[in-house]
Amino acid sequence: MQTHILGYPRIGSERELKKASERYWSGKISRDELIEVGKKIRLENWTLQKNAGMDFVATNDFSFYDHVLDLSLTLGAVPKRYNEILRHFNNSLIDIYFAMARGYQKEGYDITAMEMTKWFDTNYHYIVPEFYKNQEFSFLSKKITEEFIEAKNAGFKAKPVIIGPVSYLLLGKEKDENFDKLNLLPKLLKIYFEIFTELRDNGAEWIQLDEPFLALDLNKKAENLYVKTYAKIKETFPELKFLVATYFEGLKDQVSLAAQLPVDALHIDLVRDPNQLDSVLSSFPPKSFLSLGVVDGRNIWKNDFSKSLKIIKKAKEKLGKDRIFISSSCSLLHSPCDLDLETKEETLSAEIKDWLAFAKQKLREICTLRELSEEKPREEFLQLYCDNQKSIDNRKNSGLIHKNPVKKRIESTDDTFARRKSKFAIRKKIQQDTLKLPLFPTTTIGSFPQTKEVRSWRARLKKQELTQAEYDRLIKKEIEETVRKQENLGIDVLVHGEFERNDMVEYFGEQLDGFAFTQNGWVQSYGSRCVKPPIIYGDVSRPHPMTVFWSTYAQSLTSKWVKGMLTGPVTILQWSFVRDDQPRSLTCKQIALAIRDEVTDLEKAGIKIIQIDEPAIREGLPLRKKNWEFYLQWTVNCFLISSCGVKDSTQIHTHMCYSEFNDIIQSIALMDADVITIECSRSQMELLNAFSDFKYPNDIGPGVYDIHSPRVPSKEEILDLLDKAKKVIPPAQLWVNPDCGLKTRNWEETEAALQRMVDAAKEARNAS
Ligand code: GLN
Ligand code: ZN
Repeated sequence: MQTHILGYPRIGSERELKKASERYWSGKISRDELIEVGKKIRLENWTLQKNAGMDFVATNDFSFYDHVLDLSLTLGAVPKRYNEILRHFNNSLIDIYFAMARGYQKEGYDITAMEMTKWFDTNYHYIVPEFYKNQEFSFLSKKITEEFIEAKNAGFKAKPVIIGPVSYLLLGKEKDENFDKLNLLPKLLKIYFEIFTELRDNGAEWIQLDEPFLALDLNKKAENLYVKTYAKIKETFPELKFLVATYFEGLKDQVSLAAQLPVDALHIDLVRDPNQLDSVLSSFPPKSFLSLGVVDGRNIWKNDFSKSLKIIKKAKEKLGKDRIFISSSCSLLHSPCDLDLETKEETLSAEIKDWLAFAKQKLREICTLRELSEEKPREEFLQLYCDNQKSIDNRKNSGLIHKNPVKKRIESTDDTFARRKSKFAIRKKIQQDTLKLPLFPTTTIGSFPQTKEVRSWRARLKKQELTQAEYDRLIKKEIEETVRKQENLGIDVLVHGEFERNDMVEYFGEQLDGFAFTQNGWVQSYGSRCVKPPIIYGDVSRPHPMTVFWSTYAQSLTSKWVKGMLTGPVTILQWSFVRDDQPRSLTCKQIALAIRDEVTDLEKAGIKIIQIDEPAIREGLPLRKKNWEFYLQWTVNCFLISSCGVKDSTQIHTHMCYSEFNDIIQSIALMDADVITIECSRSQMELLNAFSDFKYPNDIGPGVYDIHSPRVPSKEEILDLLDKAKKVIPPAQLWVNPDCGLKTRNWEETEAALQRMVDAAKEARNAS
């Protein structure tokens, strides 16, 4: 039995890469210094893998920004618009690479970045390859060979990792019309062959080809391409060993396709789909290796050795021990680096810490599992097994996790929890009588600029340089100023500005029971951006109101309506590490009930309009279409549970952004929010198209300007967008708002843009 992982986090355990890249971009360190940081991280990662007892270390999993972009550069798939700056950068590949990732708007250049999108259903974002009709490829960047040699020279047995050719094409986007990117395969394969040749000549034995699409819904053409491509690869390189890696889904109908590929090893994700093992084993050809992804690469829980050993045993009985690899389910890119860095009991208690494993700990788990699968494991490993089972049992039975009142409440939640008292048409009338809003009411999405100053107050409160009372006073003053500014602008529905929040999930997680936080549990989101997701370890409940204090304060300052602002249950779930001992839908329901309590408390306190943000509902969609319906059913239900505890007269808003909604618009309608504000301005036509086919029943505010750029829109542009919206949505249903929160903008541009927005709404009102 051998051990390996599909990849390791590259940000560095202290986020060294983030810090160095940002310093390089702002000119504070040199290119050589940046490259040195990368080298150091790689050496550390390989050393960790080797010391843990891995048979191979993964190479080429390191990246200065994104591994898909690395591959585009390796394959010479650099869009033409970057030619302009080749000379400017003296052909320095790393600078062209960063320009591809981030765009280049300096020294008179104005070159846009490549598009970025989510890596399957993770919170990692990759840079989308661009394909053109006359697309050519060349072996441009030699990163993959260089890193292999670097590892080899440092004494490691290296297994280079690269995305397979079929998945690479499927990840990209056709930028010309009337051609099929899959037809680029022969050209592409030529370059892959050059890469394999170089790796072979430098002594590579195994090469890992990631083909995640092999485990997703495939059409016939793609299936055939898999068969042909891998036959050709093996035929051309009989002396190399190829491991094809699938992850994030089970092989399902494609089991025999995958198992029969003429490669040397197949990797399967047994965390996502443990049931695929039997069918894979029964269709497995006699000479291939099977790599068992038993240690979860996407979550932070300790592996349950007894469960994993059962899986390994089954595979061993069928294939024999020499044909088995033990591995992580996917790359450890999606795990935080090192649990040992969590040293503060107040942040993460010893009891909870004992249930967790981050990337470094997962390496040990994999190697321990190998040892435990031997005929006669060594004594010290048997001890590790006992310790592991003790932790697993502690977690199962811990009083921290199981709360009877929460479980009882879930049991007593019936259909009535997910239904408003009256239909929308009736509610709309009642709300109109109470709220008396004009046609085309104006509002914002919730947050106002989080200036350095505001953020410094929170830091000082944490360091106890400010008392709670002093901090509250400062936030109150900021809220008051913000209320006045909105009044002066003439906005109809105000917000308090969310100044008290560090992050829209963390703020709620910190106040809910069942959540824990880390000091250093960073995971790469994109480029140098990292996130630190909360850990949902136990039954969730709300010990006290979370936002009532601030919302009622803001409402007390004005005769206009102030919206209460909450984060929805699906988004809280989606942006956290979620417990794996019960279905996600159940955990989400618990969160929904906690939010519902907050909603009803806000109502009791006199708040008439409450917004429950669900920006993440789209991104949680399962990868296989067959599973969409079930997901949409429970997520919509959770939103309804959170929002339906109010009277007809209370107006519920929701907000969504970041994604294409066209394919789930019907489910969005089923959420039955009285008003939805939705990102629209970057792809306005696309979204509005959905509304010409589908009559959205409730009120809707398609964002009229893009808040992601500092640019102040003109009144005419906004009116133009409103006109377009009016063509597909009846005016009586339309709201006017920006397309997302304003926390990343500064006050000057915010006030200027909002003034134009209000003026445009007034003009539209007068004209109708
Ligand atoms: N209410 C949040 C804000 O305005 C919504 C953020 C989001 O959609 N991501 O900041
Ligand atoms: Zn948003």
